[in-house]
Amino acid sequence: MSTIEVLRVGHRPFRDKRITTHVALVARAFGASGIYIDSKDVALEETLSKIVSKFGGNFRIESGVDWKKKFREFKGVKIHLTMYGESIESLKDKLKSELISKDSIILVGASKVPPDAYEISDYNVSVTNQPHSEVSALAITLDRLLEGKEFDSEVRTGINVIPNPRGKTVEYIPSEEDISRIYAEAKLPQNIADHSRAVAGLATRIAELCGANIDVVRAASLLHDIGRSESNGIDHGIVGSRILKLYGVSERILQIVKRHVGAGISQDEAVKLGLPDHDLMPRTIEEKIVAQADNLFRGTFRLKMQQVTEIYEKRNLHEASERIKNLHKELSLLAGQDLDLITTE
Ligand code: SAM
Repeated sequence: MSTIEVLRVGHRPFRDKRITTHVALVARAFGASGIYIDSKDVALEETLSKIVSKFGGNFRIESGVDWKKKFREFKGVKIHLTMYGESIESLKDKLKSELISKDSIILVGASKVPPDAYEISDYNVSVTNQPHSEVSALAITLDRLLEGKEFDSEVRTGINVIPNPRGKTVEYIPSEEDISRIYAEAKLPQNIADHSRAVAGLATRIAELCGANIDVVRAASLLHDIGRSESNGIDHGIVGSRILKLYGVSERILQIVKRHVGAGISQDEAVKLGLPDHDLMPRTIEEKIVAQADNLFRGTFRLKMQQVTEIYEKRNLHEASERIKNLHKELSLLAGQDLDLITTE
């Protein structure tokens, strides 16, 4: 997929911090993959990095960049936003068709933009021929080029805002960095961490094929056995969800962790096993994927479904064996191929 980056020219650290922050926030929120800023501004980089790590995504920030070199040597479509250019309305269809296969960079000014910008760019683009602001010009340009795709509510690692007509609802999907910290704080044994990473590799691939939420599946499968830091019993899913609740992890992930054991635990079984008096059956597609990807691994060793069910049969766990077969069938249908044939590198 092609990317759009933003190049900020003429940034004056002593007076433009706030507006350049806004340019970067608009770039990130409206679909660009990163921003380059000409003057070195460590404080600005820190502010932006904090926002990105809190709200997630891989937005790239680099200040102290030789803008002319960057712009000249950029391999892709070079766009300069200026009130003196051709209208975005007349250029947008041409630009959109170029951007299907090419990366692009959008230059916006702060102070007066040197004439070289007009010469190096492929397109000098205006958003009306009136003077206004780099923030509005960038927002409208990205919206026209991405045709509103920025509104698709994408779940990322970090804090996700869930639309709410009144008040604030957020959910936290831990990033891989956060998960390493949780492993360390829980003193999770290395073999469990290795197993979790193996499960995550398969689970995310299945999630891709099934159109499930990849970030949720990745985080949940990396965390599904965190409860084993305290208990290796059948209650380790419940213990795990309790640990993760303390970190404020999303309820969706807590449920996946709780319901990953076997292919779920029925209410009767839960009572017999001394677990809380309700069933722990995986219900959402993400819950089912993590449970089944986990079933298909013994440590880091991949098993075929039949090998898994044979283990259950030998222990007289006929109901559980049947559930594993059904889950396998259901997910294989959704993925468009038998899960046993899905490989991960
Ligand atoms: N005074 C500066 C100059 O003459 O180059 C421009 C300052 S303006 C506040 C900052 C930036 O906003 C410009 O460099 C341009 O990128 C963007 N901008 C402002 N009005 C624009 C418009 N009508 N169309 C496109 N970009 C615009």
